[in-house]
Amino acid sequence: MYRISSQLSEKIKHFATFPQTGVSLRQMVMFGQNPTQGTLFKASQFLSEELPIRLAHRVKELEELPHNLSDMPSIIRVKNWYAQSFQDLVEFPSREMTPGLKEMAKSMNRQSEMQALPENSPNLAMPNGINTNGRKGVSLSHRYHSAMDGAEWPAEMHSYNERFTKMIEAVKRRHDPVVTTVAQGILEFKQAKRSHIVDTDVQAFLDRFYMSRIGIRMLIGQHIALNKGPSRKDYVGIICTKTNLADMAQEAIDNAKFICEDYYGLFRGPEVHLHCKKDLEFMYVPSHLSHMLFELLKNSLRAVVEQYGTECDEYPPIKLIVAQGKEDIAIKISDEGGGIPRSGVPLVWTYMYTTAPSQHLDPTFDKSDFKAPMAGFGYGLPISRLYARYFGGDLKLISMEGYGTDVYLHLNRISNSDEPLP
Ligand code: ADP
Ligand code: MG
Repeated sequence: MYRISSQLSEKIKHFATFPQTGVSLRQMVMFGQNPTQGTLFKASQFLSEELPIRLAHRVKELEELPHNLSDMPSIIRVKNWYAQSFQDLVEFPSREMTPGLKEMAKSMNRQSEMQALPENSPNLAMPNGINTNGRKGVSLSHRYHSAMDGAEWPAEMHSYNERFTKMIEAVKRRHDPVVTTVAQGILEFKQAKRSHIVDTDVQAFLDRFYMSRIGIRMLIGQHIALNKGPSRKDYVGIICTKTNLADMAQEAIDNAKFICEDYYGLFRGPEVHLHCKKDLEFMYVPSHLSHMLFELLKNSLRAVVEQYGTECDEYPPIKLIVAQGKEDIAIKISDEGGGIPRSGVPLVWTYMYTTAPSQHLDPTFDKSDFKAPMAGFGYGLPISRLYARYFGGDLKLISMEGYGTDVYLHLNRISNSDEPLP
């Protein structure tokens, strides 16, 4: 089993004292357009300091959880994964960079400092040997890499970029089962306490923890995609600059209906009527959008089927309405599934709250991101709200008990809000 040495533990504590740096969707897109090897190298340096800082914050938090939650075996496993990835990241540059590359990294830092830094930015002495003077804006300086375009980048840089990408891919894979393992930890905690109630401070921790995970995976996913070479049309990494909402919504409807009909053994489940302009396009991460739509649709489908029974010939349709504003895109999903009692509404936002038969937790199942089958994990709504908030949007639910539920998903159009960094 992996053990955190005292030396590593000190290093983690040190990194946890630095603030995390947020990146907006707009910055990611600006930075990722036609990246050169030099740009990708620069990005790898940004990640070599930013990811360890984010990971260190999480290790610290996992160590300091309330009510002995930190002692649960599954929580310790997760903490060790974070520490191991921290170690992989901080040790990589000093171990893998040739002396020539180190020099290059230094001079690139000096140049971008002159161009992009406020004069009195603090000097962060980072143990990995890279001078990371002043963080905000350094690695994302657009001026810098455009000035260097056309330059010949050494082969050793190319090879470094490749190896760095492989390393963070492995980190991402290591963390695939984090959501289910933390959930397992919460179950261990409930059993130890013999209580079913998860306190608000534990809920708040889970919100922070999963939000941070979304951010880390976004940065890693983006870096991997950019390093894989020219992406699909209209894509910058994993961001689509022209995400077509009607197409994405239709796909989510088809998938959710398929799962629903399969789960309940229906010949024909409830219809979903889509009201959306065919040409509505905006900049977003399609995987995040489909995750949210899929989860919300499954909830509505389930509510309608359970309200009318599986023998029903014609269910009242669910409506998915998309409004395009100047500031945001609002999506309303309305169902006539009987709604939720008013007292139950706050509960739906808590993790592991479900009125469906509980699903067995299977860490191997959580391959990429958290996707439950029909229902039963109680993660659908809270995680979808985190995805919405990650890029400055929000998710709200209004219920009319005895009739149905409306959920409102607001997605920021301006897309320059910084990541929320818990
Ligand atoms: P899960 O679907 O796994 O139960 P969710 O977080 O998606 O977890 O939803 C939590 C609970 O909220 C559901 O079990 C259900 O009781 C309630 N709920 C969510 N959406 C609706 C809806 N559209 N109509 C009625 N109840 C809903
Ligand atoms: Mg659900």
